[in-house]
Amino acid sequence: MTDLITRRNRTIGPYSPLFYDEPLEFVSAKGVWFTDVHGEKYLDGYNNVPHVGHCNDRVVAALCDQASRLNVHTRYLNARVVEYSEALLATFEPRLERVFFGNSGSEANELALRISRQLTGAKGLIVSDFSYHGTTISLAEMTTGLKTREPLAPHVRALRIPDLDADPRPEDEVLAATLADLDAAIESLGEAGHGVSACLFDWLFSTEGMPRLPQGLVAGIAERVRAAGGMVIADEVQSGFGRTGTHMWGYQRVGLTPDLVTLGKPMGNGHPMSAVVTSAAVMDEFGPNNEFFNTFAGNPVSAAVGQAVLDEMAERGLMEQARVLGETALAQLRRFADDHDFVRTAKGAGMFLGLEFVREGRPAPDLTKRVVEAMKSRHVIISRIGRDDNVLKVRPPLAFGPEELPRLLGALGESLAELDA
Ligand SMILES: *Cc1c(COP(=O)(O)O)cnc(C)c1O
Repeated sequence: MTDLITRRNRTIGPYSPLFYDEPLEFVSAKGVWFTDVHGEKYLDGYNNVPHVGHCNDRVVAALCDQASRLNVHTRYLNARVVEYSEALLATFEPRLERVFFGNSGSEANELALRISRQLTGAKGLIVSDFSYHGTTISLAEMTTGLKTREPLAPHVRALRIPDLDADPRPEDEVLAATLADLDAAIESLGEAGHGVSACLFDWLFSTEGMPRLPQGLVAGIAERVRAAGGMVIADEVQSGFGRTGTHMWGYQRVGLTPDLVTLGKPMGNGHPMSAVVTSAAVMDEFGPNNEFFNTFAGNPVSAAVGQAVLDEMAERGLMEQARVLGETALAQLRRFADDHDFVRTAKGAGMFLGLEFVREGRPAPDLTKRVVEAMKSRHVIISRIGRDDNVLKVRPPLAFGPEELPRLLGALGESLAELDA
């Protein structure tokens, strides 16, 4: 293993992070279980890309079958990609009836920004002050949630998203203060001559640590951005595809009607796929002015894979399962919060769950780190998020089932008890 780390450092480099003090090396996976080089099994409570399960039979069969027949770009007629587009768009409101395909979340967000810039004639952007939307230059220049050398671009304003669980002020005061911050940001973009092209948020605010928002914040943001001439973008790369249990798309959970929706991670169960979903009006304004072509995106193999993901989700009722299991899990996490002084709150939306750790009222990232390691020693994979890295992140494949949940929660209970000792 040491040898492999050395070789890794000498090739892909030491800056691409590895999880854990002692990294794990997996050789195979099936469903929600990994197997490492020693033949040890690990329960996956973290990875959202293998949405319908690692190496899912239906997805693998669809991929192999289509790859052995035809794989070509979208400049020839192909029923597969049209059928998949219809199936995907059927999961959206009728207003969102057009799709551009891409290969990564970054590509999707980049295209959404490009569209909003062209359609509004403005450049200004509003993001959250602890967020991540991808790897391109324009996305790096608006990254606030991890390290990038690029400073925030002059046309970007970062809005602090409040968390009622951690904010002592009354809810209406928090709401008013945040919307006042937004008004100031919009005004300063105007004064600088950038105007407002869009706001781009993951409306579950996953990277931010799933803050509890004041009532009316989401509507207030959308209203102000639109009044300033901007478009509303929903980054569904993390919160989409039924993750929250109650809605196929995270923006639906907060009652938003976005102009552009970007999809990624779980879309192809590990096969690189992404999309921008929008209205016919938006596409009809962008389309004639730009000959948009993407070599790999929307090919028949990707379409077959994407279709298999949707079919598997529907047939196994995975979104509903996430709702039911998520409720059970959240109830247990709330008991943990009651039982341990260092757990301030339990957070949850379907199978996206978190526990926030504090010590004397301050964020305690050392404790989340210890729990993540303690869970590893119990062969359960989880991680942590939030601006202070003090929120435990439990976000397993959506295929995570009722048989596995007690295992995860049991290991978590033991790991928390270890901190008490
Ligand atoms: C991972 C991620 C992206 C970027 O997706 P890539 O496929 O890595 O380019 C964008 N937005 C969110 C919310 C993400 O989590």
